[in-house]
Amino acid sequence: MSRFELPTQGRYQQLIAPTPLVAVSLDRDSPRVWVKLEFLNPSGSIKDRIARYMIEKAWRRGELRPGSEVVEASSGSTSISLALVCAQFGLRFTAVMPEGVSRERRLILSALGARFELTPRDEGMRETLRRAAAIAEERGAFETRQFKNPENAEAHRIWTGQEILSQLPGGSVDAVVSGVGTGGTIVGLFAAFRENGCPVTPYAARPVDGSVVSELECCSISPRFSSRVPGVVDCVSELYTPEALPGLVELDVSDELAIETTRRLIRRGFPVGPSSGLNFAAAIKVARQLGDGAEVVTVFPDRMERYFSTELFAGEE
Ligand code: PMP
Repeated sequence: MSRFELPTQGRYQQLIAPTPLVAVSLDRDSPRVWVKLEFLNPSGSIKDRIARYMIEKAWRRGELRPGSEVVEASSGSTSISLALVCAQFGLRFTAVMPEGVSRERRLILSALGARFELTPRDEGMRETLRRAAAIAEERGAFETRQFKNPENAEAHRIWTGQEILSQLPGGSVDAVVSGVGTGGTIVGLFAAFRENGCPVTPYAARPVDGSVVSELECCSISPRFSSRVPGVVDCVSELYTPEALPGLVELDVSDELAIETTRRLIRRGFPVGPSSGLNFAAAIKVARQLGDGAEVVTVFPDRMERYFSTELFAGEE
């Protein structure tokens, strides 16, 4: 499906994507939306795509060779995906993450052979980014820079987006809905659909709750957001810009609804994490607004197993 040639074709990278696109509706009277099941990628998240794409691009430019070190600032999914792809390519990987990252994430990283460094939680994501840059400088490591690297969004434009268009009966999209971490998903999918002539509007789903406000300072999205949906609203992205998303609609979803929707999806056999519940709840709102016949596309970014130690599983034992 991918349009780029793989230097490692025939080895392990073919394990990443394509993923199914399915029409999902949880209630009889609720509209159905198209969902790309990205949690089925091998590390369990959509970030496998950008990890593979950014690493392969650097590899082909000659910036990486067997044994090179890669470093990324990421609070979770991207680090795990980079650890997986680096393991496949025979590269070393160091993840720089804010303190407080869950035990299951740290175990996955170690098992995949990655190293990690933790930065003080109260210094926020900016300090994590600064530390990753320092490591690159000190050790000559290659920084993938998901929050800046246009290849993040490009992976979704030429790969995930094209895959969706080829799977969608009718091949046209009216709305693309996604929570924003780096913004790579929404920016890339929107560009793919628009370039293919779809009358598409981008909707950024924001988890909000007046009572649980994150202390992170926020540049790109309203500061009144909830921290109960990990991976969404990291607030340091240079990809999520008005120029990249003309006509953008920012859609608030209560964090309570995001978590409850995630639990309902799991009970219906979609073993997903909280950002999938956020995306699905937002996509249903959009489908209701646009009415019958509108084709609304969203993604389920990652798997539920990453959230065993979070409130999502509270009361399950
Ligand atoms: N869901 C999860 C679980 C994530 O980790 C992320 C990225 N941090 C997103 C959604 C948002 O994806 P993107 O970075 O492409 O905006």
